[in-house]
Amino acid sequence: MRIHDIENRLRALGAGPGHAARVLRHWVQARPQDAGRRAIADFLPKTLRAALPALGSELAALARLRERHPGADGSARLLVDLADGQTVETVLLPRQGVCVSTQLGCAVGCGFCMTGRSGLLRQLGSAEIVAQVALARSLQPVRKVVFMGMGEPAHNLDNVLEAIDLLGTQGNLAHKQLVFSTVGDARAFERLPQGVVKPALALSLHSMNAERRAALLPRAPRWEPADLLAEALAYARATGYPLQVQWTLLAGVNDGDDELEALVPALQGQPAILNMIPYNAVDGLDFRRPDVDRVTAIFRGLNQRGVLTRMRQSAGQDVDAGCGQLRARVVQVRRA
Ligand code: SF4
Repeated sequence: MRIHDIENRLRALGAGPGHAARVLRHWVQARPQDAGRRAIADFLPKTLRAALPALGSELAALARLRERHPGADGSARLLVDLADGQTVETVLLPRQGVCVSTQLGCAVGCGFCMTGRSGLLRQLGSAEIVAQVALARSLQPVRKVVFMGMGEPAHNLDNVLEAIDLLGTQGNLAHKQLVFSTVGDARAFERLPQGVVKPALALSLHSMNAERRAALLPRAPRWEPADLLAEALAYARATGYPLQVQWTLLAGVNDGDDELEALVPALQGQPAILNMIPYNAVDGLDFRRPDVDRVTAIFRGLNQRGVLTRMRQSAGQDVDAGCGQLRARVVQVRRA
């Protein structure tokens, strides 16, 4: 279901110009089951009021909590059932954030990611993306939404931008607290500046070496990494929000001095934050996390040379932290 489908239905029920926005606002800001009750109090047309309880139930069914796995870091990984019985992962982040999925599976096929192994199964509708935020808000306050769960947002651009537009206009969220993530897709760079709501940008870079990057992200668009960074930095300058550069740190793959030497001139003095995420080992995938000494040396070295670098942990790393691991486990159980 897409948000404009909901708007069309509301219009067919007699909603005037401000009524549809009001109903959607109640959905994304309050608990889903409150949507009908609160909207009634706001003097909506009679036909619309009568239809709201059923619509509220339908919206709540778009993303239902199946399992909650709290992490030691204050995050929680959620397994979420969609209305058609499929399952996605949503992550409640510490400090009032939520990470949402935008696709079921993913076509990019990153070698270090469980989600990429299944390929793309289907797109999520914009309403299913927003429903994950509404579900998260029924569990904790949400002030930040990152589009970094299962899927490549640029491969589902219309739905993701529609969700961003609703969250940024009716969701009581600052635009810079919406973070669009991409492996680098020209369509995203073209469309993002055109939106009324301009989110912050996260770029999954992972290597400054084009060949190595192509091996790690086999079906990402082919860019010279320096050109890709320049494109993303131009958007960051235009919006005034720093670019978030994502780098999953893999021992013996992209933690070498050659990568650091290429990163320094590319990011020194630029409006960017380099988020390095030491890899969490996953059964069946052949990557390792660098040892603590190497991680510390990279962190210190880059910061000393003027590259603002943060070492981050994947949220909830003690509970099947890799994106797609929880879902993969459920699918295995179903198949057994
Ligand atoms: Fe897709 Fe992101 Fe996984 Fe890569 S890391 S396969 S882009 S979900």
